[in-house]
Amino acid sequence: MDVIRRRQDLRAVAERGRAEGLTVGFVPTMGFFHEGHLSLMRRARSECDLAVVSVFVNPLQFGPTEDLASYPRDLDRDVAMAEAEGIDLVFAPDAEEVYPRGRPEVTVDPGQLGERLEGASRPGHFHGVLTVVANLLNLVGPSMAYFGEKDFQQLVLVRRMALDLSFPVEVVECPTVREPDGLALSSRNVFLSSEERTAALCLSEGLRAAAKRVREGDSWPGPVAAEIADRVHAEPLAELDYVALVDEETFQEVERIERPARALVAARVGRPRLIDNIRLEPS
Ligand code: AMP
Repeated sequence: MDVIRRRQDLRAVAERGRAEGLTVGFVPTMGFFHEGHLSLMRRARSECDLAVVSVFVNPLQFGPTEDLASYPRDLDRDVAMAEAEGIDLVFAPDAEEVYPRGRPEVTVDPGQLGERLEGASRPGHFHGVLTVVANLLNLVGPSMAYFGEKDFQQLVLVRRMALDLSFPVEVVECPTVREPDGLALSSRNVFLSSEERTAALCLSEGLRAAAKRVREGDSWPGPVAAEIADRVHAEPLAELDYVALVDEETFQEVERIERPARALVAARVGRPRLIDNIRLEPS
């Protein structure tokens, strides 16, 4: 497996692969791998000839008071894990390789969808996400790019960017990988103390209870959202940021749950801010 640090080297290898007729699959990440990342890699590995993973903690998507400096990093471990998954190439650039002229002047505007929920709590976040994803997609030139449902709003925005701006890539949605007790895997879980780790279950438990309620026939968003909010409020170590029930296509808040919708939740538990979501399927 190759570890590449320079943008021109990455471009050259990907171009060579495409010229040989290989399909290129791409998994963009911020590293500190867990089973969620590995599930994306396995999918890319099984569907593409040349499987490329990037490890880049993108400064552009962190706000001034956020955890850019303390975001967990361990490139040696990540490289070993990617290699064990049969990945062909890890791209691990410095910021200067991704943004050779410094902070980019021209960025991708995520539109109104990028202003809501995560975008409202983290102003500028999705500008940073879409700008780096566009940049990396242009460097790698994959035919398939793999994203986790765990970051549902990000997935919807990346898909929309690819459609609206005609990126020649298929955005592949991969299911959220969870711990056996339901906690969604996240690199930030490493910051949870054992008490906070238990407290953090209120997110997935609330979501599961909400999905059950909808399955059993409740189509009013108010009580379904309250199911989630109440669980989080009941947990002294958790501080709720938002709960939202949105249409999966339009991302608008739903008035009745009459077709599949998405419940999303964000809360701070101790130091880390955690997000999770679940599909709501009316019976
Ligand atoms: P990150 O390194 O957190 O930026 O995540 C890189 C990719 O892995 C994104 O597409 C995430 O949505 C995805 N991902 C993160 N956590 C999970 C998880 N628990 N299950 C599935 N995919 C995940």
